[in-house]
Amino acid sequence: MALDRYGQFKPVGPTESLREKSAQLARMCPFSPHARNEDAIAAERFSEAPERDGRLGHYETAYVGAVREAGFRGSGSSGGMVTWVAAELLRLGLVDGVAHVAPSAGSGFFRYTISRTAEALHEGAKSRYYPVELSGVLDKIRRVPGRYAVVGVPCFIKAIHLQRETDPVLAERISYTLGLFCGHMKSARLVESFAWQMDTAVEAVERPEFRIKGPERPANWYTAHLTLRSGDTRQKDWFYLADGDWGAGFFQNSACNWCDDVLAETADIAFGDAWVEPYSSDWRGTNVVVIRDRLLRDVVGRAIADERLDLRTVDADYIANTQAAGLRQRREGLGYRLTWRRGGLRPRKRVEPSTDLPIDRKFIYRLRYGISAWSHRMFSLARHLAQPKLYLSWARMSLGLYQGLAYGRGRAGALARRLRLTDRND
Ligand SMILES: Cc1cc2nc3c(=O)[nH]c(=O)nc-3n(C[C@H](O)[C@H](O)[C@H](O)COP(=O)(O)OP(=O)(O)OC[C@H]3O[C@@H](n4cnc5c(N)ncnc54)[C@H](O)[C@@H]3O)c2cc1C
Repeated sequence: MALDRYGQFKPVGPTESLREKSAQLARMCPFSPHARNEDAIAAERFSEAPERDGRLGHYETAYVGAVREAGFRGSGSSGGMVTWVAAELLRLGLVDGVAHVAPSAGSGFFRYTISRTAEALHEGAKSRYYPVELSGVLDKIRRVPGRYAVVGVPCFIKAIHLQRETDPVLAERISYTLGLFCGHMKSARLVESFAWQMDTAVEAVERPEFRIKGPERPANWYTAHLTLRSGDTRQKDWFYLADGDWGAGFFQNSACNWCDDVLAETADIAFGDAWVEPYSSDWRGTNVVVIRDRLLRDVVGRAIADERLDLRTVDADYIANTQAAGLRQRREGLGYRLTWRRGGLRPRKRVEPSTDLPIDRKFIYRLRYGISAWSHRMFSLARHLAQPKLYLSWARMSLGLYQGLAYGRGRAGALARRLRLTDRND
């Protein structure tokens, strides 16, 4: 895997070798129409789970809340539950190492690494909206005997299960999968764009952070923070960035257009942010958690009883409501995208193609698709010409259009209302 000119990972190698491997790749790639889908994988793994929901998949129980034990919530992006569960698996001796994403000193800002202590896990806490790849860490797991947990976004967790089907060593050694709910993955250019918008160059950046917490801002008010090699720091709220509206889809990986798994349905346990009030406004960050593995259900249940975790049971509708926008994009939006002409691409999804949706939703899905595709090209051109303004002006215009349609905001919103494309008035 190597980063392409748009800052996204792609498989590389001599064409013959890729062609030779293509049958194997077709079974392993999480987006391949020839690979087993999430329903098939989850039915096999969690057939005994008492609950089943079309949006959450199979599950034992679901919670909203955060870690009460000191040191986790403050350093996590949300309620600190991912790092806590990973640390608890190590503490109980259920695994010897946890593969997760941490800051990297080499090329790229972040990479998969294996942590074997709670301290090392803490180093890697926080969400990284940055491309990473799994092959290096899977090789390490093959080389070094032990039991491992792997943290990943839904397509990575699915890829691991597909690999485990033909790789007995990985099947034996990967004991737990910890999934992150996922809206979409970004390219490496997001950080470069942030740097441009904070009057610096990406080469000057030592460490980017995508979300920082503070009592002065609600949890859903993301703030990007850059630590420069000089020791200086820069920060800006996403709200003021030309590409800082997550829903508009800037720098989205094109594969995400064809994904129908928001809640990591094949993971033993999955975590997201509680994007509903009162939690969206609570600056400390709050998780939603879906547990599919029975032993993990008991581990978490015991910790709640011991007051180490502050979690409350919730139902499927509650969880789905926290991810309403992501589920719309991956269900209604995906159904609509499946009706488009896509050249040779023939995704096989769990969603039926459908054009049965309001006109404003169609416009929003078209615009979002266009913004993600063109953000890569416009940024690449601006970078090549060393003209950041070229990209930033295009991004601001696109954002204005998107927010006009999606929220009825600004002049584009007034026009959309006049054309009866929306009745929203933000
Ligand atoms: C690309 C992406 C998109 C997301 N989209 C959504 C969404 O739409 N809705 C939602 O509710 N939540 C989403 N999340 C998850 C959310 O950002 C939090 O990661 C989650 O709520 C866990 O928070 P926490 O405080 O429990 O985790 P923390 O205690 O902060 O730990 C986070 C753990 O995740 C690992 N990690 C971070 N980034 C990555 C990565 N890229 N790949 C693999 N492991 C990683 C870290 O190494 C760490 O172990 C997304 C995360 C990512 C990476």
